[in-house]
Amino acid sequence: MQETVWRRTDRMFAVLILCQWAFGVACAVITSPKTWSGLNSQVHVHVWAALFLGGAISFLPVLLAWQRPGWVFTRHTIAVAQILWSALLIHLTGGRIETHFHIFGSLAFLAFYRDWRVLITATLVVAADHAIRGMFWPQSVFGVLAASQWRWLEHAGWVVFEDIFLIQACLFSQKEMREICAKRAALENVNQEIEHQIKLRTRELEFEKSVTEKQAVLLSRSNEELRQFAYVASHDLQEPLRMVTSYLQLISKRYKGKLDSDADEFIDFAVDGATRMKRLINDLLDYSRVSTHAKEKKQINAEDTFLKALSNLKIALEESDTVVTHDPLPQVWADDGQLERLFQNLVGNAVKYRKKDSKQAVHVRAQQTDTGWHFSIRDHGIGIAKEHQERVFVIFQRLHSAQEYSGTGIGLAVCQKIVQNHGGKIWIESEPDMGSVFHFTIANHEQKEFA
Ligand code: ADP
Repeated sequence: MQETVWRRTDRMFAVLILCQWAFGVACAVITSPKTWSGLNSQVHVHVWAALFLGGAISFLPVLLAWQRPGWVFTRHTIAVAQILWSALLIHLTGGRIETHFHIFGSLAFLAFYRDWRVLITATLVVAADHAIRGMFWPQSVFGVLAASQWRWLEHAGWVVFEDIFLIQACLFSQKEMREICAKRAALENVNQEIEHQIKLRTRELEFEKSVTEKQAVLLSRSNEELRQFAYVASHDLQEPLRMVTSYLQLISKRYKGKLDSDADEFIDFAVDGATRMKRLINDLLDYSRVSTHAKEKKQINAEDTFLKALSNLKIALEESDTVVTHDPLPQVWADDGQLERLFQNLVGNAVKYRKKDSKQAVHVRAQQTDTGWHFSIRDHGIGIAKEHQERVFVIFQRLHSAQEYSGTGIGLAVCQKIVQNHGGKIWIESEPDMGSVFHFTIANHEQKEFA
């Protein structure tokens, strides 16, 4: 900051000195252009003094201000030159006391440097100039032919008087400048630290992002591979299984009662195992088909779909004496087959997990939401404890043994996949022995487009 002030003041003085030069020459030309000796006239010596002496005084400071701005020697040279200019102008105006004010003006300008040492140099030059000229050429400096030999001291005294205030101003301004700079430096440090932190954090975030992206790619790849594996395995296993089942049934038909009782029992176990395996494979195939065989969604009537699901469950409903009621169901944007499977699994479970020796009643509701439709299927069955309510949506997770309730643990996993495929979520509200409410949402067409 100080350097800037010095350079700026150097430039200002270069211009000021050149202006003074022009002014000095103009003054000399206007006030005493010619000198006369009898009839002969010639250019007055003042004109030459203004031109050449002024030029000599101005040359070095202007050169330094131009070539070496901000240098300590430059501003002291400028201080000397400025005071010499005051001296020259005093001389050119015949030692007029008014021109002495030029010195005070010069000192005030020199204070622009905010460097008190420059004022000392200028004051010394003033004192020396007044002392020497007062002694040898008083007319040039005081405008009188004879002056007291101590008059220079009086002039120097006034200059020192002004210096006292200017020096104080310089010191004060330097102190202020230091304080401003300290604050700015502190601020810059804080800024730098913040910038550094931001850069670090950005780098970290970029790294995290790239890791997350990589993980997402890996996850989706492994999901895809798993899906394909589940589909291919369950599809390809069907054929040999069908063979095992049919031959086991053949053996059972032909040899039941012809071998010993152990053999009959073993054959029953084998047939039962094969049947369960067939169900498991079919369910697994269903699960992978939710994503592989998804059909395009369209506007459908959920009530029609629901009734189709009920007709698939006709025998189970009749056998269990289950009463199913429902509110009017809306038009929704969905894959018809998947919605049918969803209703079928949920109502089927309500039938399967009914309380023993009591009639099951199921009620289905639908409510519109901001983003689509909210369905709920209430039963009065055995209920599910809170801690199991999320777990049951995971594939193969069952809460009962095959002896208690038959099943593969895939039904609700299929439901969750279907709901997700429709931009919704599925959850349970239930307590053991108090029945369950299965809730699921389906997004509107526009919501799906947004998602
Ligand atoms: P599965 O019925 O083949 O066992 P699901 O995935 O359909 O498989 O169900 C997972 C588990 O959730 C079931 O084993 C059962 O314990 C529980 N469950 C599902 N529906 C109900 C229901 N309506 N009431 C009580 N429990 C249920």
